[in-house]
Amino acid sequence: MRTVAFVGSRREVFCCPTCALNEGVQTHEPVRFEQLADYETARALRPGDAFAVEGSNLVLCVRSHQMLNRDGQVAPMDFDRCSPSIIAFANRAAAERFASEHGGNVGAFLQLAGQSAQAPR
Ligand SMILES: [Zn+2]
Repeated sequence: MRTVAFVGSRREVFCCPTCALNEGVQTHEPVRFEQLADYETARALRPGDAFAVEGSNLVLCVRSHQMLNRDGQVAPMDFDRCSPSIIAFANRAAAERFASEHGGNVGAFLQLAGQSAQAPR
């Protein structure tokens, strides 16, 4: 799920593509993806070659964003910045197999990422 993207002119590593898109929304800067990781093999993918499943029931990195308050309780987040999840695959067949188990929309990565960047929240 590791994702490398430019937000404005800064190169950053994100836990998933959705986090990168949400940072772009918050900072009002364009997001340009540089490298994705194939969900099945963890190999690097070029965004222009990748397929993706958006909005499946699997949100891989949500746990790492939970914050504990002083009492050790999980503090509610304002919003889940990893949702809807976008999970990258090397080819459409792998993405469709995943979507048949976990739901979500299958498409070219850049197409899905562009749509969700503009979707109202
Ligand atoms: Zn994330």
